[in-house]
Amino acid sequence: MTGERVFPTFSFELYPPRSPAAEVSLFESIDRLSAANPEFISVTYRPTSPDRAASLSVLGKLIREHRVHAMAHLTCVGSSYAEASQVIREFLDEGVTSFLALRGDPPDGQSEGDDFLGDLASAAELVQLIHRVQAERSQFTFEEVPGFPAAKRLRSGEKVTIAVAAFPNGHPRSRSRAQDIDTLLAKQAAGANLAITQLFFEADEYLTFVNEARSAGVTMRILPGIMPVMSLARLRRTLELSGESMPRKLLAALEAAPDSETAAQVGIDACTGLAKDLLAGGADGIHLYTFNRSDAPLAVLRGAGLLGMSSQPA
Ligand code: FAD
Repeated sequence: MTGERVFPTFSFELYPPRSPAAEVSLFESIDRLSAANPEFISVTYRPTSPDRAASLSVLGKLIREHRVHAMAHLTCVGSSYAEASQVIREFLDEGVTSFLALRGDPPDGQSEGDDFLGDLASAAELVQLIHRVQAERSQFTFEEVPGFPAAKRLRSGEKVTIAVAAFPNGHPRSRSRAQDIDTLLAKQAAGANLAITQLFFEADEYLTFVNEARSAGVTMRILPGIMPVMSLARLRRTLELSGESMPRKLLAALEAAPDSETAAQVGIDACTGLAKDLLAGGADGIHLYTFNRSDAPLAVLRGAGLLGMSSQPA
């Protein structure tokens, strides 16, 4: 994700399938989402061995069959330094060169107060470890010297893209806005070069946060992470997972929808409106949480005028 880029970009998040039927439907979504030419597609991560293998398999498919820039989520949960380094090597071996470094959600059956991390205590430490493992693997490469066909020169190894999470409405553990911005600055200082936000529902929440982050010295791109929420059940579940507060307008519109088809359209329209407001406010990209679907995310991009634009990194 280096070189020239056409702005604004768009990108997608997927999660690994949990059943054969889910796999079939995910593969259909991948066909359609990758054909839209996103900047990247990211794949979520849980630290258990079958979940990790499932993430790796989706990432491998994106890279080899679809030639899409694939971003692997990784977390600090439950790993020693040696284990975390080994996982990073496994992903690099699969051809992954972009990571989203996260502290991680508590494993099933545990909560925020429990001690569920390993040697790595924060996303910033994971950012540093990814850089270190990558640097150990490819310290130098050789490149052609223009005009001198027989010559080769040394170039420092390929750099990885390391994204991190940002929280426009504050992380649930954070005591203040200043702490959220300081945490983001610490991740940038550790070597992160892209941020993706937690879900939010009002453009001002993102735009104000980005302004404050810029004033504090955050220079990396901050992509707004948004999602078409197409049912009341999905809205409730999403808020439960993210800790965000209830968006009253969307709640009322979903409650008033007479059937599931109307509710789905309400969700798509709300997300399209949000995407347009974000772009008008200066966001240079839109990251869509897809829930492994393609219709709604593509409808949002179409409505926001982003489909058909090349979002491919050069
Ligand atoms: P950190 O940057 O390490 O910090 C979390 C927060 O805790 C900070 O805001 C900071 O204010 C506070 N904090 C940090 N250190 C301290 C301290 N010492 N004392 C007090 N407060 C402190 N989870 C998964 O398990 N798998 C995924 O694939 C996944 N994908 C995600 C994708 C995105 C785009 C986002 C936004 C989140 C994702 N998550 C995922 C959830 C994420 O792991 C949780 O939100 C987690 O609680 C925070 O992760 P972080 O990387 O921001 O953590």
